[in-house]
Amino acid sequence: PYDLRGKRVWVAGHRGMVGSALLRRLEDENCDLQTVPRSEVDLTSQADTANWMRKARPEAVFIAAARVGGISANARYPAEFLVENVLILVNVIKAASELGVEKLMCLGSSCIYPKHAEQPIREEALLTGSLEPTNEAYAIAKIAGMKLASAYAEEYGHRFISVMPTNLYGRNDNFDLDHSHVIPALIRKMHEAKIAHRDSVVVWGTGTPRREFLHVDDLADACVFLMKQYESPKPINIGSGEEIAIGELAFLIADIVDFRGHIVFDTLKPDGAPRKLLDCSRLRALGWSPSIGLRAGIEELYDRWKKTSRSVQG
Ligand code: GDP
Repeated sequence: PYDLRGKRVWVAGHRGMVGSALLRRLEDENCDLQTVPRSEVDLTSQADTANWMRKARPEAVFIAAARVGGISANARYPAEFLVENVLILVNVIKAASELGVEKLMCLGSSCIYPKHAEQPIREEALLTGSLEPTNEAYAIAKIAGMKLASAYAEEYGHRFISVMPTNLYGRNDNFDLDHSHVIPALIRKMHEAKIAHRDSVVVWGTGTPRREFLHVDDLADACVFLMKQYESPKPINIGSGEEIAIGELAFLIADIVDFRGHIVFDTLKPDGAPRKLLDCSRLRALGWSPSIGLRAGIEELYDRWKKTSRSVQG
């Protein structure tokens, strides 16, 4: 196993939902945490990234930096999603190899799997079929980064690993309706409809796609666990096993928010992948399992967002 204690550990992308959860979780590990603001180092710049890493000399690296977004943002800005994510991953992984970083974790995503992959999706399904078009650009970038990490591991013997988280939600999630993922979007739409006494809320798509959701604090715990325990260059899935149809999710969130109006499905909006449930038997066999249930996780997120958001009342 890899011992994080006393190590210089860099969390790239520490302001994001995943990066900030990793920072909170790593506080228990007695390591020397490193972060750098975007205003100081632009990770899409190779020179900036390599120079900063040469100075900071991280021993372990988590790559949580990414341009991310929900189904709408992904479909609207494919060029930016592809170029920014490729640059970040290539710059950090290449510099990490050159500087002899001891252990590196590349964070992928479940959308890298083929649109019609057999469910639950095993790690071996990667690159066996065509991708879901609404997030193809992001997926191509993440596949490139994970393949680069495993290429360095195989060619140079580096301890570079890749993980594939399922759909995530939690603290520091994006609640901007054009860019957000479905959980923060529905929390916000239903809360605002309740406050304004509107009697309906629009949910995108048919409501039939199924998604698995994992709380970001569980993800951070799994990442730290794997950083210590996992050595294979083969990517490993991180999921919760908790799967729900979008229509059912909408009713669950309506109940949590106490929105009592109608739910209208806008079938002109895209559904995206019909289903993406990860097979996590590899991770379970290593001895990790999640601890935050979907309902409790959404309740906590809703409470926190109500307290921190200045744009809403109630
Ligand atoms: P995806 O897993 O990449 O498709 O990411 P999303 O979280 O953006 O979307 C998940 C599913 O929820 C898709 O079928 C969306 O069409 C559906 N959905 C329903 N209402 C919304 C909404 O208000 N915002 C988003 N982002 N998705 C929604």
